[in-house]
Amino acid sequence: MFQRTLRNSCRFEGKGLHSGKFSQISVCPAPPDTGIVFVRTDLGIEVPARSDFVVDTRRSTTLGKGRARIGTVEHLLSALSGLGIDNARIELASREVPILDGSAAPFTDGILAAGIEQQDAPRRWLEIPHEIFIKNAGTGSWIRVTPADEPSLELTVDYGSRVIGVQTVRIDRTVDYASQIAPCRTFCFLHEIWPQLALGLARGGDVNNAIIAVERPVSQRRLDTLARMFGSPRMSVTPEGYLSNLELRFPDECARHKMLDLIGDLRLCGGFLKARITAFKPGHAINTAAAAQIFKSLNHNG
Ligand SMILES: [Zn+2]
Repeated sequence: MFQRTLRNSCRFEGKGLHSGKFSQISVCPAPPDTGIVFVRTDLGIEVPARSDFVVDTRRSTTLGKGRARIGTVEHLLSALSGLGIDNARIELASREVPILDGSAAPFTDGILAAGIEQQDAPRRWLEIPHEIFIKNAGTGSWIRVTPADEPSLELTVDYGSRVIGVQTVRIDRTVDYASQIAPCRTFCFLHEIWPQLALGLARGGDVNNAIIAVERPVSQRRLDTLARMFGSPRMSVTPEGYLSNLELRFPDECARHKMLDLIGDLRLCGGFLKARITAFKPGHAINTAAAAQIFKSLNHNG
């Protein structure tokens, strides 16, 4: 298999998830063996998409080097990995990748429209010398990375939620990432975000693109308040138990989004892994910790 890059550059623009600030990025072709590199064009600082540059994993994954920060990198990295892109240069003059619709679909659409080009160099698959297992005793989350000839990922989420239930998603090379994983958006629980919403710390706009599970009974009065925040004429709870701000794209969209995040965060190990990954309730902290362990095991030869 040969390395791949984009045929042409493509641009994305929109608001950042955390900063709320308008941001523009260009995803550009790059020579073989570049990997994925972010470039803060305003600061002249290059930050490779690698676990040793992770500086924050609260709510999303942030890379940093010197005074340069690049926030919310995971959905774009996921799109690049899902489309099998080895090399890309991502230029931006702001501190965050735009959140767009909260999924990776705008990125895959843009990259596919720009075209993908095979390069004159074989892909360097990453092969870990031994199994890696990492667990967070506090949250019960874990990730297992087992050497394998065929890459695959399997992920389960279980938050004890009546609405989300237990969802398991598997992906290997027979699954079309662009149609099956990229369109999936993040999720949260209404009872967890309500205090912030009520205090005005998060506006409707901040969660407009999130699937919101309604785990506990909610009054009409609260629904009316939410409708005002979201700028929607009315708000209800769907029979499945989600707030009506969005229509689900898949019944198990929550687990599929976790898969999207996992693919993006694990790309921080520096390339494409020949491994079987299994994960339970993963999040950015454990994903990037796993990427760091993989990176370490590759560079210390066991
Ligand atoms: Zn995400």
